[in-house]
Amino acid sequence: MTNAENGNKIGTLYIVATPIGNLADISERALQTLTNVDLIAAEDTRHTGKLLSHFGIKTRTFALHDHNEKQKAQQLLDWLNEGKNIALVSDAGTPLISDPGYAVVNLCRTEGATVTPVPGACAAISALCCSGLPTDRFQFIGFTPAKSQARQQFFIDAFESGITSIMYESTHRIMASLDDLSTALGADQHVVFAKELTKTYETFFSGTVTELIAFLTNEPERQRGELVLMLPGKPAQQDDIPDEAKRMLALLEPEMPLKKACGIVAEYFGLKKNALYKSVIDSREG
Ligand code: SAM
Repeated sequence: MTNAENGNKIGTLYIVATPIGNLADISERALQTLTNVDLIAAEDTRHTGKLLSHFGIKTRTFALHDHNEKQKAQQLLDWLNEGKNIALVSDAGTPLISDPGYAVVNLCRTEGATVTPVPGACAAISALCCSGLPTDRFQFIGFTPAKSQARQQFFIDAFESGITSIMYESTHRIMASLDDLSTALGADQHVVFAKELTKTYETFFSGTVTELIAFLTNEPERQRGELVLMLPGKPAQQDDIPDEAKRMLALLEPEMPLKKACGIVAEYFGLKKNALYKSVIDSREG
C-alpha cells in the first residue's frame, strides 16, 4: 500500500521552468512554487542560487545533475514520501528537455508520486513558433551528434520524417554542422536558425544552408551564443502515394470531405494523413 493510500500526506514534485535569458519570463506560479517548496533540486546550485537571490527566494537547494541523478532519485522519492514538497529546475528553460530530470520523474511516476508541471520557457518551442515553418506536426530531436557522419545521417533522418525538426546546437560546432547539413541535404536546403532567444541579441535567420553559412561567416560573432536549428520536413510527393490509394481516394472523395477521405485512405495504407492531404492539395494547385 502506498503512503497516499495509507492516508499519509506525501509531497509533490514540481517541474519548474525557468527563463532562457530574459528573467522577466519567470512565471508568478514558478516564483510561488520556488518560494513555498521545502527543497529545490537544481542542475547547478550556484547558477540557480543567482536566480533565486535575484527574486529574493531563500529555499534550500541541492544538486541534481547528469552524474548523480540516478543515485539521488531514490533520496528525492524518500523526501516526497516524508511529506516534503520539492521543485526541480535546470539551468535554463524546461527541465528534462536536453536537461537532467528524466530518471527522477520516471522513478516518481513508477512509484505513484505526484509530479506536476509549472510550465514556462523552452528554447525549442520559442524558436519553432517564430520560425515560419509548419507547426502542425514537428519533432524535437535534441542536440546534433558530435561526429560528422552521424550528424549527416541525423539530418537525413530529420528531413525524411516529413515534418518540421527542431534541434539544439552548440556554438563551437555550428559551422561544422552546417557543412554536414550541406553534404547531407544539399547547399540549397532550407534551414531556420534562432540565436539568443529572449536576449538582447536575439536573431532569426531563414534561408538556404549556403546563405546561413555566409551570414555566420560575414560576422563571426553571430556564431556565438545559444542556438537552435530547424529544418522543414521533406515535402510529400504525389509519387509517394500508391496507385491503389489514389483510386480509393477518388472513390471516397465524392462521398465525404477530402480530409476525411484522406484519413481513411491513410489509415488503410499506413500513410501519414497530413502528408497525404497536403500532397493532394499541392498536386491540384500545381
Ligand atoms: N532545457 C532547455 C530548454 O527548455 O530549452 C534547454 C537546455 S540545453 C542544455 C541548452 C541548449 O538549448 C543550448 O545549447 C541551445 O541550443 C538551446 N538554448 C537554450 N537557451 C537558448 C536561447 N536563449 N536561445 C537559443 N537557444 C537556446
